[in-house]
Amino acid sequence: MSYLQLNNVTKSFGGVKALDSVSFSVEKGEVIGLIGPNGSGKSTLFNAMTSVFSVDFGSIILDDINITNKPTYEVARMGVSRTFQDAKPLPQITVADNLDLAFKYPTDISLFSAFFKSKRLKEERLANLKHLREMLIEVGIPEKESSLAGDLSYGQGKLLEVLKVMAFDGKLVLLDEPFSGLFPEMIKLISKLIKRLADQGKTIMLVEHNMKLISEICDRVIVLDAGKVIADGKFDKVKNEKIVIESYLGG
Ligand code: ADP
Ligand code: MG
Repeated sequence: MSYLQLNNVTKSFGGVKALDSVSFSVEKGEVIGLIGPNGSGKSTLFNAMTSVFSVDFGSIILDDINITNKPTYEVARMGVSRTFQDAKPLPQITVADNLDLAFKYPTDISLFSAFFKSKRLKEERLANLKHLREMLIEVGIPEKESSLAGDLSYGQGKLLEVLKVMAFDGKLVLLDEPFSGLFPEMIKLISKLIKRLADQGKTIMLVEHNMKLISEICDRVIVLDAGKVIADGKFDKVKNEKIVIESYLGG
């Protein structure tokens, strides 16, 4: 059984089949580029996988567990983290707090156990603070630690979204256009961070329109068109497939 398996996943909005019997499987540690024209269903696929809305038909199996239509928090608890295409960090809290919220904390914090574990929690928080400061230093914005996230530039906001994913330290990472609208410097930085996630053995799905970036980062690409998987394989093979070229030229 593959690490991630989608079987005939189907989702309609009114008359539009945003996902039309989507099936594929992903092995642990693979880095998948998810490509396709605008409106082909890429974001909808991530939304289906994280139960932002329920699917009409089909199943999504992660690590042998059926996560189809499971509540979003349960999917996250299984180690799935993601960025949203248009998401910004929480604007009214600081950069540090945005990151702090992304770290995993023990899930059994009932009042009783919280009392006895408060020392451990405190240590964990301190470790996280140290970790997030190191991250901010690495990406060159240590001075932003106490800034409100809403005061960041657009690019820094996109960067913070990726840092949040890194802080969460999930096993399956879904990145929806993390590079869109960014200057080359920031693209380079974020691409380095994504490659590090890949080196850490995370399973990654990346939506991106820039084929050069896709070919640099991804082992394999899955192509969607009008909610259907029209190609799936190594980038060099898929990019020459007639149906893929036509889909892009037609779009
Ligand atoms: P992509 O991310 O590939 O650009 P989307 O997944 O955003 O495409 O959209 C696929 C199709 O589903 C589009 O026709 C879009 O208009 C439709 N769609 C997506 N989300 C919704 C929604 N919440 N309500 C209605 N239609 C939606
Ligand atoms: Mg999209």
